[in-house]
Amino acid sequence: MRTGRIIAPPPPENRPASVENPASVEPPVEARAEESAEKMTASAKFTTAAAQNSRLKTSVGWIFGGKQQQGWQIYEPLIRETIKAETDAGSNEFAAALSQRQKSAGLSPSGILDEQTFRSFVADWQTNRLKHRSPATAEELVGGLPADFYDPGRSPELRQIERETYAAYKRMVAAAAADKSLNLKANPDGALAANERFLKIVSSHRSKEYQNQLRAASPNSGRAALAVNFSPHFTGRALDIYVGGEPVSTEDNNRLAQINTPVYQWLVKNAAQFGFRPYFYEPWHWEYVGANGQIDLITE
Ligand SMILES: [Zn+2]
Repeated sequence: MRTGRIIAPPPPENRPASVENPASVEPPVEARAEESAEKMTASAKFTTAAAQNSRLKTSVGWIFGGKQQQGWQIYEPLIRETIKAETDAGSNEFAAALSQRQKSAGLSPSGILDEQTFRSFVADWQTNRLKHRSPATAEELVGGLPADFYDPGRSPELRQIERETYAAYKRMVAAAAADKSLNLKANPDGALAANERFLKIVSSHRSKEYQNQLRAASPNSGRAALAVNFSPHFTGRALDIYVGGEPVSTEDNNRLAQINTPVYQWLVKNAAQFGFRPYFYEPWHWEYVGANGQIDLITE
């Protein structure tokens, strides 16, 4: 009903005037104009950031494991999961979500994924890894079934896994097999079929002696990653899982193929629920830290 009051234009979408201001006093027109100018500035800022991110994801330089690295596109699924961005790195939404993270990390909230911002992600991912540093004891290890391995012919000695890690792996794989979107071949009992390669275990427990042998056998075969990895396979709680391509090659093109498989992307979204954390540099390498975070925090 008309009351003679000047009718103000409707409030901006998603912002009913009554929520913040029960008395329904409309903000002055100038204030609203200012606010919408701010919104426009933010949107322009994120459009620029998005364009920058599309370029930086294949070009920004950084060093890891003593090796020059280029771009962060290989880590895009992990980045998106970390900042809960639903859209790809070239989108305004991604830039906006990134700026929130930058703000909380004390960085300039530009929405641009530059080297410094990328380093903050790496620092977080590395911090979230397995802290447990004791070699597995014989009592802690169980023999994994040949059918759970990428190479079922692997010797029993090389199929050993820490007991709880194996149980958690089985729960995780059953959940993946039940997810129809992944199209994994499964047995009637829900376990992965013998002829399914995805998510099979490539490597589990490795004794320190065996690790040393591996390193000595191939000192120059892209092992930079292994050196920074601290290879926690001796704990029995690290698993290399098949996520596509060459199972454990750190070549950029190989890792790029791996991070684009639905299985890898499923792990990025779901592995934490089963107690597994990623090693960002190796899409296949996952560490069991327990369902509630770290099993036992050892200060080093
Ligand atoms: Zn590994």
